[in-house]
Amino acid sequence: MGLALGHPQFGYYMTRDPLGQSGDFTTAPEISQMFGEIIGIWCADQWLKMGSPAKIRLVELGPGRGTLMADLLRATKNIPGFHAACSVHMVETSPVLQARQKHALEGHGAAWHASFADIPADLPYLVVANEFFDALPVRQLVAHDGAWHERVVALDADNELVFAVRQAGITPAFEPVENAIYEFSPVRAAYMNALCAALALRGGSLLAIDYGHEKTAPGDTLQAMREHRFTPVLHHIGEADLTSHVDFDELSRIAVANGLAPELRTQETFLNDYGINIRAQRLKVANAGHSQSIDEAVARLTGNGQMGRLFKVLSVAKA
Ligand code: SAH
Repeated sequence: MGLALGHPQFGYYMTRDPLGQSGDFTTAPEISQMFGEIIGIWCADQWLKMGSPAKIRLVELGPGRGTLMADLLRATKNIPGFHAACSVHMVETSPVLQARQKHALEGHGAAWHASFADIPADLPYLVVANEFFDALPVRQLVAHDGAWHERVVALDADNELVFAVRQAGITPAFEPVENAIYEFSPVRAAYMNALCAALALRGGSLLAIDYGHEKTAPGDTLQAMREHRFTPVLHHIGEADLTSHVDFDELSRIAVANGLAPELRTQETFLNDYGINIRAQRLKVANAGHSQSIDEAVARLTGNGQMGRLFKVLSVAKA
């Protein structure tokens, strides 16, 4: 999964802009400006609660086209002192997407990094990550004959990629019910741990948004998407997006282990709590004639059968 997405020459994200109608999938910031604006309100609110520190590092992980950050910055420009306090850091491995982000953020003095670890660890942070953790690679165990085995990718006699198994390196605390799949992600856990350690040291808050589950449980959530359709995960390696649902239970435990306080909400609750309906009303007044598309965007972002429940928002701050 890591190679399929991140190989320097052939990796899916390294070679293309996958977003939007002409791409493979659409994300919340690309649905409506309101998404980034509401996250901007969250950031400003966190900054005020921290006592308006004079300098803070505003970090986005996996920023796609840079739309979220551009909307966030526009929505917060009238909050006295906030922009002056923020230095903007974009963590992005894809050269194609970095170029798009630079275009979207012209004039904001942003800096780009390949990893969060490259950002100076001297100031408090505000970290936002939309559909970032889901792109970090997972491992899968599969239950067979009363035991867990690690799922691996192999070549069959026709040189086609197939799933195979080998001895598992860990034993999960779940019954090995025949054919059950258990996913875990040491890469996600390590990234979360590094973020939480930095927040514990310097202060600040983190917001991670993804589709995912509230409780650690078995289940196969690895999926490939191409041209807005699901495709078998081994069929278009490097040509399809690969993601899996984020185990927010585990991310929350890592936050607690670092002495931080996690709070998990659905995207619907988060966007409502931070005023998406008020924002939508204002937009409708300012853009007569666009009422219907604004209502549709709110429904897509918050709707029960749409993104509202499947997507979760984890915020982490000092306890
Ligand atoms: N946040 C954006 C894009 C989501 S797609 C949006 O909501 O529209 C995933 C993003 O994470 C892409 O920008 C991809 O290039 C980036 N990415 C994937 N793996 C990464 C890694 N290990 N480090 C930094 N960025 C990564």
